[in-house]
Amino acid sequence: AGGAQGAGESEALHTLRRVFGYDAFRGEQGQIIDHVVGGGDAVVLMPTGGGKSLCYQIPALVRPGTGVVISPLIALMQDQVDALRALGVRAGFINSTLDFEERRVVEAEFLAGELDLLYLAPERLRLEATASLLERGKISLFAIDEAHCVSQWGHDFRPDYLELAVLGERWPEVPRIALTATATPDTHREIGQRLGMPSARSFVASFDRPNIQYRIVPKRDPRKQLLRFVKEEHAGDAGIVYCLSRNSVERTAEFLSGNGVEAVPYHAGLDAGTRAAHQARFLREDGLVVVATIAFGMGIDKPDVRFVAHLDLPKSVEGYYQETGRAGRDGLPSTAWLAYGLQDVVQQRKLIESGEGDQAFQRRARGHLDAMLALCETVRCRRGELLAYFGQEPEQGAEGYRCGNCDTCLTPPETWDATVPAQKVLSAVVRLKRERGQKFGSGHIVDLLLGRKTAKVIQFDHDALTVFGIGTELGEPEWRGVVRQLLAQGLMEVEGEHGTLVLTDASADVLRGAREVRMRKDVLPAQQARSGGGQ
Ligand code: ADP
Ligand code: ZN
Repeated sequence: AGGAQGAGESEALHTLRRVFGYDAFRGEQGQIIDHVVGGGDAVVLMPTGGGKSLCYQIPALVRPGTGVVISPLIALMQDQVDALRALGVRAGFINSTLDFEERRVVEAEFLAGELDLLYLAPERLRLEATASLLERGKISLFAIDEAHCVSQWGHDFRPDYLELAVLGERWPEVPRIALTATATPDTHREIGQRLGMPSARSFVASFDRPNIQYRIVPKRDPRKQLLRFVKEEHAGDAGIVYCLSRNSVERTAEFLSGNGVEAVPYHAGLDAGTRAAHQARFLREDGLVVVATIAFGMGIDKPDVRFVAHLDLPKSVEGYYQETGRAGRDGLPSTAWLAYGLQDVVQQRKLIESGEGDQAFQRRARGHLDAMLALCETVRCRRGELLAYFGQEPEQGAEGYRCGNCDTCLTPPETWDATVPAQKVLSAVVRLKRERGQKFGSGHIVDLLLGRKTAKVIQFDHDALTVFGIGTELGEPEWRGVVRQLLAQGLMEVEGEHGTLVLTDASADVLRGAREVRMRKDVLPAQQARSGGGQ
C-alpha cells in the first residue's frame, strides 16, 4: 500500500499542476489528498479560503470512478460546475433546478463513467431513485461539504444530513471525506458520530487568519461610521458590507454611492438578473463594495476582498467567523469591522423569543447570541477569544494572549468601575416591575435615569419615582452602553417580544453591593478619529 500511496501522491501533485495550475499544496492538503486517494475516510476542518475543494476534487480525479459531492448550496452548484468545466474537469450536478431532460443527460453521463465529479443536494439521497442510480455507477469517493450541518447543536442544522450515515452502510468500500469551515470541538465530535465515520482521520487546520484585523466598535451612527472607515482605510478597495434587512441593504448601498464609495445592493428581493450582474461586477472590478444580506459570499471566490463590515450583529460566532473569513483570502492585510449597539442585542433577543422553534431551539439560539456578545464585549484579544471558541486556544491560554492585530491588542480598552451605574439601572428595573402588566424597554429606563419628561414618563407618573433623574452623571450613549454590557454580562435579560428588561439570579449580588461590575469604556468615534484611527 505504501508504494501505491507514493504513486498516488505524485499523481495528485501532477493533477494539481496540470489541471489547476498551482505549484504546491497548501497546509495539509497534500496529506489529506494522500489519505483519501489511499481509500481512507477523513474529517477536514479548515477555515474559509483554506482550500477545501481541492481536498476532494483531486482524489476524485486520481481515483477511478465519479466523486459524489453532497452540498446544501444548490444555488452555487451551477457556478462550481462551470468553473470546473472551464478547467477541463468533467463535472455535473443534479438538483431541483434541472428539468427532466437535463437530469437524464447528467444521469447518462454518470452511468457511462463520463463524470469526474457529481454534485448532489442532500435531500436527493433520501430518494430511492437516487440511491439506485448511484448503485449502478462507479463511485470514487463521497465528499460531504458543509458537514457542520449534521450537528443539531450547531447554527445551521439540516435534518437531511442525518441521513448521510447511510452512505457508509451502502458503500462501505468507498472513502468519505467530510469538510467544514465552522466547527467547535463539540460539532467536530458530532460530525464523526452522526455521519457514521468513527474511525475517520481528522485533519484540523489552524483557524487563525493572521492577516485579518478584527475590530468591533460601538454603534452610534452606523452608516457614517462605515463611510469613515471605508474612506480612511479602504478607499478604492473591494469589500462586503453585511446588513440584516433588505431595506437596510438598499439604504446603505445608496448612502455609500451618494458619498463617493461605489456600492451595489445584493439580497433575495432583487431579481435574479440584477443579482447576477452585481455579483459579476464584484468579481470583475477592483474596488466595488457589495452591501448584502448574509446569503452573499457563500462560495464566491474573490481573493482580494480587503474588508468585511457588519452593520448588524451576527447571530453566532460561527456566522461571524465565516463571513469575516471572506476577507483577505490572498493573505494580504484585511479588516473585519463590526459596529454593534444595544439595539442589536434587544432586537436579536426579541427575534429569538418571538420566532418559531421549540424551547430547545430558542435556548440554543440564545447560547449562540451570548457567545457573540461575549466576543463583542471582551477586553481580551479578539483573536485569542475566537481561537479558543473553536477549540484552538493559544498555548499560553486565551487570558494573556496578545495577537497584536486586533482592536483590543492595538488599543487596549480601558475599563471602569460601573457598579453604581449598574445598581441604578437594576433599581429602575426592580421599580418598574412593580407596575404589573406594563412593559418597559431599555429606552424608557434611560429616559427615567436621565430625568426626561417624555410622554410615557408623564403618562405613568414616572417622574414621581425615586429613580427618576438619578443618572445625570452620564449621557444617553453611556447609559445605553451600561445597559448593553449588563445584558452581555448576564446581569440582566430581555424578555418577551416587547423587549422588557428583567433581572437575573446574578443581579441580586450587584444590588446588594456584593459584586463589583467592571465595564469597558466605549471609545467614541470622535476620539478614535482624533487618536489617528487608521492602522
Ligand atoms: P474553501 O472551500 O476552503 O473556502 P477553496 O477551496 O474555495 O476554499 O479555495 C480558496 C482559494 O484558494 C481558491 O481560489 C483556490 O483555488 C485557492 N487554492 C486552493 N488550494 C491552493 C493551492 N494549493 N495553491 C494555490 N491556491 C490554492
Ligand atoms: Zn489581538
